[in-house]
Amino acid sequence: MPAIAFDNSYARELPQHATPWQPAVPRAPSLLYWNAPLAASLGLEASAVATETLAAWFSGAELPEGAEPVAQAYAGHQFGGFSPSLGDGRALLLGEVIDRAGQRRDLAFKGSGRTPFSRRGDGKAAVGPMLRELIIGEALHALGIPTTRALAVVATGEEVYRDTTLPGAVLTRVAASHIRVGTFQYFAARGELEQLKALADYTIARHYPAAAAAANPYLALLQGVCTAQARLIAQWMHAGFIHGVMNTDNMTLSGESIDFGPCAFMDGYNPDTVFSSIDSQGRYAYGNQPWIAQWNLARLAEALLPLIAPDDPASAVPAATEVLEGFAGQYLQQWRELGYRKLGLPAHDGPGLLEDWLALLAAQAADHTLAWRYLAAAAAGDGSRLAAQFADPQPLADWLGQWRAQLAASGATPQQTAAALCAANPLYIPRNHLVEEALAAASERGDMAPALQLLAVLAEPFTERDGLARYTQPAPAALMADYRTFCGT
Ligand code: AMP
Ligand code: MG
Repeated sequence: MPAIAFDNSYARELPQHATPWQPAVPRAPSLLYWNAPLAASLGLEASAVATETLAAWFSGAELPEGAEPVAQAYAGHQFGGFSPSLGDGRALLLGEVIDRAGQRRDLAFKGSGRTPFSRRGDGKAAVGPMLRELIIGEALHALGIPTTRALAVVATGEEVYRDTTLPGAVLTRVAASHIRVGTFQYFAARGELEQLKALADYTIARHYPAAAAAANPYLALLQGVCTAQARLIAQWMHAGFIHGVMNTDNMTLSGESIDFGPCAFMDGYNPDTVFSSIDSQGRYAYGNQPWIAQWNLARLAEALLPLIAPDDPASAVPAATEVLEGFAGQYLQQWRELGYRKLGLPAHDGPGLLEDWLALLAAQAADHTLAWRYLAAAAAGDGSRLAAQFADPQPLADWLGQWRAQLAASGATPQQTAAALCAANPLYIPRNHLVEEALAAASERGDMAPALQLLAVLAEPFTERDGLARYTQPAPAALMADYRTFCGT
């Protein structure tokens, strides 16, 4: 029996949607990282597989039995401008496996060489950006946020050429699927309605099976994606996560986070925060993310119109618009529900303590993660660490008075509230300076220890442990003043 039980439905059922293609063979692959718990959850029989074999399998040197690599076609709006053909320019879908929970999961390479979609790119990826993708994905996963994850990172032993010469790597990504808003746009823009329908039917069967029985399955598909994205973005916002490049080709139909290029977590709370070096207009600023998601979903809706009403696509506009307009309400509801859980209070409609709290954080640029987390100690009677996050104590004291009154009315003991708050508000997030430190050590010195230690801390973000205080602190202000992140290209 092969070690990986591939079942490659995308290549099999949608042959027009992807091009069979082989990865580049790396010169000297060596395994930098192997995600053993993820491998186990996928049912991979890899424990007996030699490290050299894993390095060969997950770099393209020698494919595991059953893999059928294809480059997937997709289009996308990048910073608002439409590119009709993007596709897997440095990625390949190896195939799919059914995981231990019965879920179909993609295994895909990133950085595996040129494909027919590469345009002027080299198809390669560097160690640093691939480790960033690994660290961010594992952090989001541990926070309970739907995300693609890294199974393996293999150094290729080759150099890639960017602003400087960098060590190359191939990342193996696990995803609920790699179907993007841009995948639909690709076939819609070409007027290939049969292919568009095949893609929609495949997506419904894989991600939204209940939609198949709806009066209009394609409208139900749009509704399902809106709901999933509303929840995802609400979770990002409460984690202080900034994706950084929310182009339509970087938004999944499954509702998982994907394609971590210039992404980063925010320290001091400021809705205008932008880290990405290429986002000069702040299109993908922290506070814009919900409305960009809605804009992207409108592009999905446009692509689906000819399926929603085949005889007269324009007649589908009112129904599709109604679904899109529902996104704002769904997002707000999710955001309030999660936000009040983080305050230890029952959710309610309309502005209230949650909005006041964030206004307070914004006014004093308090550390987003620590301010939330130290509410737990404040609930249990020790407000000193919380107070230390605020320069001006009076507005905080006023707000705490109202919050304590509502907590008292809820009937929970202070200890119960503190425990609930610790379970809802993480202490450890990937702090930017620590991520950079880990990437630099691996990239410049081949030293994976800082990355592995950071991953171990981030695996349990809600549990305070001795000796890890350094992982809780924001970067020194001087370091962050001109902090910029870069796309992984
Ligand atoms: P990304 O910025 O990773 O979301 O990629 C946007 C598009 O550019 C996708 O079509 C990628 O396949 C393509 N791309 C990014 N980097 C490279 C590269 N080094 N070589 C070829 N294509 C690339
Ligand atoms: Mg992308």
